[in-house]
Amino acid sequence: MTKPFNAFEVAQAQFDSVADLLNLDQAARDLLRFPLREFSFAIPVRMDDGSVQVFRGFRVQHNDAKGPCKGGIRFHPLETLDTVRALSMWMTWKCAVVDIPLGGGKGGVVCDPHNLSLREQESICRGFVRRMGRNMGPKLDVPAPDVMTSAQHMLWMLDEFEAIHGTKQPGFITGKPTGVGGSQGRTEATGFGLVFTLREALKELNIRPGDTTASVEGFGNVAQHAIRLYHQIGGRTTCVSCWDQDDQTSYSFRRRDGIDLDELLGITDRYGGIDKARAKALGYEVLPGSAWIEQDVDILIPAALENEINEENVHRIGKQVRIIAEGANGPTTPEADKVLEQRGIFLIPDLLANAGGVTCSYFEQVQSNMNYYWDKDEVLSKLDIKMTAAFVAVSELARTRKLFMRQAAYMIAVDRVARACRDRGWL
Ligand code: NAD
Repeated sequence: MTKPFNAFEVAQAQFDSVADLLNLDQAARDLLRFPLREFSFAIPVRMDDGSVQVFRGFRVQHNDAKGPCKGGIRFHPLETLDTVRALSMWMTWKCAVVDIPLGGGKGGVVCDPHNLSLREQESICRGFVRRMGRNMGPKLDVPAPDVMTSAQHMLWMLDEFEAIHGTKQPGFITGKPTGVGGSQGRTEATGFGLVFTLREALKELNIRPGDTTASVEGFGNVAQHAIRLYHQIGGRTTCVSCWDQDDQTSYSFRRRDGIDLDELLGITDRYGGIDKARAKALGYEVLPGSAWIEQDVDILIPAALENEINEENVHRIGKQVRIIAEGANGPTTPEADKVLEQRGIFLIPDLLANAGGVTCSYFEQVQSNMNYYWDKDEVLSKLDIKMTAAFVAVSELARTRKLFMRQAAYMIAVDRVARACRDRGWL
């Protein structure tokens, strides 16, 4: 029997190998291997039918040596404390790799918003903040949207936080709608940030973006914006995949001469699910969910969930694939990593590739705390500068020390956080 996947064990294994490379002492390992603080709580909600349902919520604050914790809140029926722990640790490294003055946190609620009315979802959001309001805040821990949560959820949470504290504090939360403290460019930031790093990787490998094709797992926020900018720099996406709520399985949608992003968006629901029948009518081949990884493309972009490139399917990656840019958090297992490294596939690891979201969240926090907002071009050009600088630092270290890109990114990040802990006198 195969052991169930545990994201926290993966995160710790990744940390351990970097701790060895950095020669970290035992105290630093003991501190950074586990979260500083974790909260697990119940959120009772009065449902529309009058009954009460109790939802489980988690918030984990992995490390705040470099600044307030930062990280999303996910709504997912299979959420576990260990997944949230792993994601909070990855947030610490992600903030550090792009060198923003924030630490790592993450939250989750075990629920499936597909089966909840908006009023019930609002009650979960407000309940989450009532439980956590004293342990979060602009100077403590700043949440953001994540899988199956949106700007609307963030605004309900902000409203509850401000009601509890009796003051306006737009810096409490990011991913807010523009006009109510949100930043221009936040919606695009993760997908665009990924493509800024992809553009740099192509430059380094001497490949023209216009000569490349990509296959993408997922068709939500990250995937959609990554595809938009990738097409703008000349690339062509031939396959995307998504989860089908009715059939409770995933499907891939292929068009060999390239998908039309706006056409597909027109038949996609707000959870990133594509309408199968309408896609077929538009000439897309509807294939099993696993097909996205087997495509003859130059670039793979996993942008759905964790554990999607693993021991079982890594050998099905097409021979033509040169680059994998990880939009999702933790999409590749350590076993699969070894195979990618042996094959010489250029990996842009999650903590770097998808750091555009948190970088723009940091910009949003700065703007919210100043109550002065920048225009979109300013936000996106600042994002480009940060992402490009981070990519260059990681790839230079990888080249000079002959490291796999993930290791190089981790070394930079863990070293910065360990230093901050040491400088504060924690170690
Ligand atoms: P989303 O909810 O908008 O979209 C998720 C997409 O994945 C949907 O299209 C869904 O149908 C698809 N999906 C779900 N299960 C699938 C499966 N088994 N096979 C194929 N497709 C599947 O989420 P998002 O915001 O785009 O986030 C995607 C990933 O990126 C997550 O791992 C998230 O943690 C990570 N991430 C997101 C951000 C952000 O700013 N949104 C930032 C950093 C990292």
